[in-house]
Amino acid sequence: MDRYAVVGNPIAQSKSPLIHSAFAEATSQSLSYERIESPLGQFAATVDAFRRAGGSGINVTAPFKLDAFAYATERSERAREAGAVNAMKFDGDRIIAENFDGVGLVRDVVVNLNCSLKGKRILMLGAGGATRGALAPIVAERPAVIVVANRTVQTARDVVAPYAATRVVACGLDELGAEQFDVVFNATSASLTAQLPAVSERVFAANAFAYELAYGKGLTPFLQLAQRAGVTRLADGVGMLAEQAAEAFLWWRGVRPNTAAVIERLTVPLM
Ligand code: NDP
Repeated sequence: MDRYAVVGNPIAQSKSPLIHSAFAEATSQSLSYERIESPLGQFAATVDAFRRAGGSGINVTAPFKLDAFAYATERSERAREAGAVNAMKFDGDRIIAENFDGVGLVRDVVVNLNCSLKGKRILMLGAGGATRGALAPIVAERPAVIVVANRTVQTARDVVAPYAATRVVACGLDELGAEQFDVVFNATSASLTAQLPAVSERVFAANAFAYELAYGKGLTPFLQLAQRAGVTRLADGVGMLAEQAAEAFLWWRGVRPNTAAVIERLTVPLM
């Protein structure tokens, strides 16, 4: 039976085994999928051992997405654009790396949630790995503008630098001013500790859409802010999680699973 795993630290919280087992059952694929907690600084040794034991591929989660980028022998364009890796497959000595976080996010927003990004004014809060992965797929949807606002402004500037020819701009959270946005993504990790990024409720335009990348946290402080601003279209990252997993599954197994059942099973109501 082909073996897959998700590698991170910590890893007990990961929903990936549940998701991939459900996908395998629904598509009649014979595979196993486990959690592996790698010691910090030991990503390469951990994955070497998994490959020696016959592993076919892995998902990679925090804090190893950059280690996975360095470990790969081949990187897709998406992985290179993101500078980070969230899925790998092994073929003899070849270690092939991908990043499906951004395509997963865009597919959830555009297809599942029926929110076109074309011509929209987009605010991306945060400039970490998730934003790096999301920018190229969002740019491909041809929004009017993307503003990447980060607590540490230099990080936002570094993240937007490859997009100098397009309408992607960087600023500090404290520099947002009076501009309003049609779609606001919270790609900071503030919600993981129930914190609110320092942003005003004035950033939401009328009929705005607010998307929290964290999942399973219910109504986070960011979503509460959006609600106070009158935003009615709210979502969290459960669909992004399921869609990036489906992309990895397709890449590994050649069949794309339907995500609806998994999304329904993992959804925590936004209340
Ligand atoms: P990183 O650690 O790479 O980046 C964290 C970002 O959050 C940085 O820009 C940091 O700013 C900012 N930040 C952290 N705390 C605060 C705060 N209190 N106020 C304002 N800004 C803050 O994280 P990731 O990019 O990997 O993840 C970001 C979020 O996306 C997480 O919630 C994660 O769970 C979610 N995610 C969801 C996925 C899904 O499938 N749904 C997939 C991947 C991520 P600074 O640079 O100033 O430190």
